[in-house]
Amino acid sequence: MTTAVRAAIDSVRSGSRPAPASADAWGELVRTELAGITRPSLRPVINATGVVLHTNLGRAPLPAAAVAAIQEIAGGYSNLEYDLAAGERGSRYSHCVALLREITGCEDALVVNNCAAALILAVDTFARDREVIVSRGELVEIGGSFRIPDIMRRGGARLVEVGTTNRTHLADYASAITPDTGAIIKVHRSNFSITGFTAEVSAAQLSALGKEKGVSVVHDLGSGLLIPLDEFGLRDEPTASDALRNGADVVTLSGDKLLGGPQAGIMLGKAAVIEKLRANPLARALRVDKLTIAALGATLALYRDRAMALREIPVLAMLSATPESLQSRAQGIAAALRKRGVRCDVVASESSVGGGSFPNAALPSFAVALDGIAELLEKSLRAADPAVIGRIRDGKLLLDVRSVQPREDEALVSAVAKALA
Ligand SMILES: *Cc1c(COP(=O)(O)O)cnc(C)c1O
Repeated sequence: MTTAVRAAIDSVRSGSRPAPASADAWGELVRTELAGITRPSLRPVINATGVVLHTNLGRAPLPAAAVAAIQEIAGGYSNLEYDLAAGERGSRYSHCVALLREITGCEDALVVNNCAAALILAVDTFARDREVIVSRGELVEIGGSFRIPDIMRRGGARLVEVGTTNRTHLADYASAITPDTGAIIKVHRSNFSITGFTAEVSAAQLSALGKEKGVSVVHDLGSGLLIPLDEFGLRDEPTASDALRNGADVVTLSGDKLLGGPQAGIMLGKAAVIEKLRANPLARALRVDKLTIAALGATLALYRDRAMALREIPVLAMLSATPESLQSRAQGIAAALRKRGVRCDVVASESSVGGGSFPNAALPSFAVALDGIAELLEKSLRAADPAVIGRIRDGKLLLDVRSVQPREDEALVSAVAKALA
């Protein structure tokens, strides 16, 4: 309270706020400061950017079942590392394995903190103080200062680059293998594409080479697609099962990208390989929390039924929403806004998957275009409660409805109308 009073006085002294004319107005100013001070730092926002997997906005919103699972586990004790049948110590790593087996066809699985951690663990396990072979066409930056070559070095391996930016051949890998080779890593080009005069070696060819030479092959998928989404115009992204069938020793993927679950790094592979990863002391430092396990288990369970997954997992529901349904929601939002005095139109727009997935896919969508100076509107909406983040196109602020969940439509209208009143 004292802090809020001081902040109110300071803001008036410094001229950043006009001096209140009455005691009531002073009270109001202190209440505003107090609300600002007591507001949590991490708070909900409405993502109207049209980018479904927006890393800055927290990537995948969780399915209701995952939120309920967190709620159920968070406030009490659980069998996190306790085997209830045997009455003895169990393993936190056991909880998602059966579901991952069922859904992806893997023999065994290990869940760590995120996909970057999964890669570090793989490199440390297979190639510590040894060499890792990577194609020059796959030395990618994922974003947020995450670069594949840095990860390799962090994992304690020497990076051996093969091929060129646009073309790498099987012979390039084969001739780079020495007795010191610990692993070959294939990185899925999840966030960009190379076209023109190109050649890359398939995961299947690399896996065959690895088997022949006794070298582990790690396939970093990143995106974490578990079911094909071709019918929604999202093609050419391998699923985890595809990657496993191609024979890599370990397949790594993110939990909070296309999978639509909590932040996690999922490692899939043969039992003997996963056992080695699990036994690495580094796994302890990269381990996941019980809340992640609860949320991931509940999300994975939805994949038992494709229709249920598409309906209940927000990321999949947003990606598979039809342009007609988005248009009708945009019209509803625009009509409600106009009723509250906000001038706007419905326009066709293009949304994207984000999260470094399907870099070339433009999903036809619809947006509410607000009348007014885009930069000013954008600033007001960032200060709204909840904040609404849109996208500026051709000098207009667009609120793309694809990345807004239908249950947020009312809150969107109310936040925008209040902020622009
Ligand atoms: C996103 C991505 C990663 C990193 O995943 P995080 O879960 O964010 O650590 C690694 N590799 C690829 C190919 C990716 O797309």
